[in-house]
Amino acid sequence: MGHWRFRALGLLLFGLGVAACSTTMTGRRQLTLIDDDRMDAMGLAAFASLKQQGELSRDPMVNDYVECVAAAILEVIPDGAGPKNGKWEALVFDDPTPNAFALPGGKIGVHTGMLDVVTTPGQLAAVLGHEVGHVLLRHGNERMSQSILADTAVSASSVAAGTAAPEYERLIVGGLGVGAQYGVLLPFSRKHEVEADQVGQIFMAQAGFYPVEAITLWQRMAELGSAAPDQWRSTHPSDETRIARLRANLPRAMRDYEKARTAGKDPRCVPPVVYE
Ligand SMILES: [Zn+2]
Repeated sequence: MGHWRFRALGLLLFGLGVAACSTTMTGRRQLTLIDDDRMDAMGLAAFASLKQQGELSRDPMVNDYVECVAAAILEVIPDGAGPKNGKWEALVFDDPTPNAFALPGGKIGVHTGMLDVVTTPGQLAAVLGHEVGHVLLRHGNERMSQSILADTAVSASSVAAGTAAPEYERLIVGGLGVGAQYGVLLPFSRKHEVEADQVGQIFMAQAGFYPVEAITLWQRMAELGSAAPDQWRSTHPSDETRIARLRANLPRAMRDYEKARTAGKDPRCVPPVVYE
């Protein structure tokens, strides 16, 4: 039985004819069965569908603010990371649920509801750094690759080639972290969360945002607790471990922050005015 599975895996990897492993920017080896171009295409398709289902914010102040923070983060990510074709794009969805996400293919989405939770540019930078981190660390690919291996009914080569059944494509999109919209919720693993936190905090620091604000963000999330049950938080467990890891990462992030400030990086992103 085990033997059979092993042989099936061998055939599967052979059938793909691509490198099934890669190394993350944190130096960890990971299983990535799906071609980057295919991941980008799936991310773009998922984003197009979200745009169709949702409503984009027409508030110029809100859009300028999110664009400003996103641009500062995207400026510091490693060269060549992100979409091979086209550029990154950040859009604001008029949606009261506090949610934010980034997809392969370079698409970022922020719900207006998220801006009620993250009250400073630094906190928003921590959120966007984290989400972009998931993409650059190929977490969606890794998670899908793991579920492909767990599901012998689906041929990995058909998934990689984009010829899998539509139902399965939707499940795969769930692997990108926007599952709730599709009725599938596949939270990122703790390992992925910690990794995204770590690189996200470095990105925000390199962009000139005070990296302590990543810790403030999670303290705030913890405080809101069950009073703010939302998709973003439920797929991103907030706990002491996570805050402790961000603290441990802080000395390195502070060095990057000081360097960025010395180099004149001082993103002035103005949060939208809230009339109450
Ligand atoms: Zn996450």
